[in-house]
Amino acid sequence: MSGERPDISAATTVVGVVGDPVAHSLSPRLHNAAFAELGLDWVSVGFPVPAERAHEAFAGAAALGIRGLSVTMPHKEAAARAADRLGPEAERLGVANCLVFEGGTIVGENTDGPGLVAALRRGEGFDPGGRRCLVVGAGGAGRAVVAGLADAGAASVVVVNRTRARAEAAAALAGPSGRVGTAEDVHSADLVVNATPLGMTDTSGRWPLDPAQLHADQLVVDLVYEPRRTPWLEAAEAAGATVANGVGMLVHQAGLQITRWTDRPAPVEAMWRSVAGDAGGGGAPSN
Ligand code: NAP
Repeated sequence: MSGERPDISAATTVVGVVGDPVAHSLSPRLHNAAFAELGLDWVSVGFPVPAERAHEAFAGAAALGIRGLSVTMPHKEAAARAADRLGPEAERLGVANCLVFEGGTIVGENTDGPGLVAALRRGEGFDPGGRRCLVVGAGGAGRAVVAGLADAGAASVVVVNRTRARAEAAAALAGPSGRVGTAEDVHSADLVVNATPLGMTDTSGRWPLDPAQLHADQLVVDLVYEPRRTPWLEAAEAAGATVANGVGMLVHQAGLQITRWTDRPAPVEAMWRSVAGDAGGGGAPSN
């Protein structure tokens, strides 16, 4: 472990995050913490790219010898379309949050679902295999989480969402273990994941699910990571549930990208430390 990265030079390998906006993104910090820990002469930077220029940006990155891109809004669908080949998660979801430039080939991956599952296993000691899971929300993150939990062998994946058609599409990603549910299903779930922005503030008057329905035999995860402790998570904790925020998924989806680009195990503890002090505290890393 070096702890310090070599000087940037003409030999430095470049990766980055592409999105609009990207100035707020924690991805370069996570990637650079990994490269420093691994002693690699690599650097990660942000590339702000407007939606209409995504295709040009991906082609340019390939021409420049950039090794990989983390992809955020609004480019995840364009990234999947730009790829010559998709990994199984990206293929199923139709969106890529990671591009790998392999010689002349662009490979699209999606590490969001596996990232949450890795965070549950390593950070919370919770294996979704054989467990009853409930996901609130059916947007990009919700769909990735539903697919990831099903792939991890969940006994059931119940989707609760405001828009029924989107709930049905998300539940279908889980195959036979998926179904659309209602707020009443929460009581019987072992794992409850909030994949909506609801619950970030206590002034909205709206919650993803009524925290009074939660109980001590559940793990409750809010994918939101700023603030680190959402009012809804605090209410879930008050109901006796074990709680976790979205930092684990953030770190592990980036860690899987690091492994994909470098072929090295990701130093997730160092990556976690790089973002642990951000807004809202965050506390000691648990993985
Ligand atoms: P998205 O695609 O915009 O989806 C938002 C979801 O929230 C949809 O299911 C939407 O329901 C629901 N929703 C939004 N406002 C609502 C309201 N007022 N009432 C009821 N439902 C509402 O967003 P996303 O990309 O999936 O992100 C969702 C959350 O996950 C965000 O808070 C994001 O910060 C977080 N996230 C965290 C990570 C991580 O690494 N920790 C990664 C990605 C995202 P409809 O379908 O009815 O519109």
